[in-house]
Amino acid sequence: MPIKLYNTLTRQAEKLKPLKKGRVGLYTCGPTVYNYAHIGNLRTYLFEDILKRTLVYNGLQVKHVMNITDVGHLTSDADSGEDKMEKGAKREGKTAWEIADFYTKAFLKDIGELNILPPNKLPTATGHIKEQITLVKKLEKKGFTYQTTDGIYFDTSKLPDYGKLANLKNQELKAGARVDMGDKKNPHDFALWKLSVPSRGAHPEDATAAEGSSITKRQMEWKSPWGVGFPGWHIECSAMATKYLGQPFDIHCGGIDHVPVHHTNEIAQSEAAFGKPLANVWMHGEFLLIGADKMAKSGENFITLQTIKDRGINPLAYRYFLLQAHYRKQLAFSWEALKAAESGLNHLYQAVRALPKKLPENKALHEAFHQHINNDLDIPGGLGIIWKAINEKTADQKTAIHFDEILGLEIKNNLKEKKMALPKAVAALAAERDTARAAKKFAESDRLRKELEAQGYVVEDTKDGTRVTKK
Ligand code: AMP
Ligand code: ZN
Repeated sequence: MPIKLYNTLTRQAEKLKPLKKGRVGLYTCGPTVYNYAHIGNLRTYLFEDILKRTLVYNGLQVKHVMNITDVGHLTSDADSGEDKMEKGAKREGKTAWEIADFYTKAFLKDIGELNILPPNKLPTATGHIKEQITLVKKLEKKGFTYQTTDGIYFDTSKLPDYGKLANLKNQELKAGARVDMGDKKNPHDFALWKLSVPSRGAHPEDATAAEGSSITKRQMEWKSPWGVGFPGWHIECSAMATKYLGQPFDIHCGGIDHVPVHHTNEIAQSEAAFGKPLANVWMHGEFLLIGADKMAKSGENFITLQTIKDRGINPLAYRYFLLQAHYRKQLAFSWEALKAAESGLNHLYQAVRALPKKLPENKALHEAFHQHINNDLDIPGGLGIIWKAINEKTADQKTAIHFDEILGLEIKNNLKEKKMALPKAVAALAAERDTARAAKKFAESDRLRKELEAQGYVVEDTKDGTRVTKK
């Protein structure tokens, strides 16, 4: 069955044609490890996980590379502002290296708890300085670069189709729009290598000229042919993707905000250097919103997976919440919607428990589910198929477990009901209610039921006594 995927580059859903039979090279832009990932970031990684699971479900062997941005990502995407890593180090009184190590581990823990399959390779930007310098040198040799007082820049006017991914030509910056140009020649030009200390002249020897000035020394910096400095943000992805997947490779992904700047610039520098496409298919996940805004790492609406766990909600409920929306649609987060997803997930576990273990194979069901997921990852449609089959009793547990290879909701581990550890005070109320019932004090037992319900629990009477579960 063909796999159709929406390609941002061609603006249409296309049949996937892997470059090497039976194999797919997949590159996904990873986290900037200066803070915890917020649940918006995690939405993007979840969409990529669904893509990868779909490729594997179709029998393809996937080589998945995700970078860790541990240097060079400035607070403004327009190559100005502070390096996010150095900023994180100042905030926490640690070294930038310690910050990178800490938040990389936190990221891996988060994706593990969301049952996102780990990438095959997780290269870091700081581990690939040599490769990035080599790429910048290649671009310099081909005449695509120029030097300013603060770094080496890519000259976008030298590339006739610059901006094709985002269709930038048709949305040129409005005349008079303010652009932080610095010494740049064109508004879209971007940094390939930045000098730690801006030089006064255009010569590498001058890179230290501002010594003694008020600029604080960077923690992360390297020697280069252009002076001591650090790579621009975009060059790391071009260098590492090509190193591990070759050029071109099959699929490149990221969040929708990467289209106009980061991915546009990756394409520009990689195509300029090698004269061929970087990747054949470019896929982008839409934003998670909170209210009308996008969730961002700064600002009040910063919710992490830990915030969700602190409210006693299973991380997989957040996964289920995300699965209910197509990856190319914006999705608004609310605690009510997450709670509803948690009930939905528990309901799914219960419904699967009630299914027969194995029925004769239902080919039509398998085919319908497969068609949905191969149709640009239509997981909401796939879930609809599953629920319909459950309600009509045409599915069995084996099929549900098979479909869970895509959903990743750990259905197999939930075939038996898990005893939930109740908070001590709640367990005490339940025990008190059992005592009251045994003594036939029904008014007291009713009062305790109401109290438990008011605290957000469902109370059922079973032969083993009061059963308390979260609403
Ligand atoms: P960062 O760690 O800031 O480099 O971002 C990691 C990933 O999260 C990128 O692919 C972004 O495009 C994506 N991202 C950032 N904000 C959101 C959001 N609100 N919803 C979904 N994805 C996002
Ligand atoms: Zn990237």
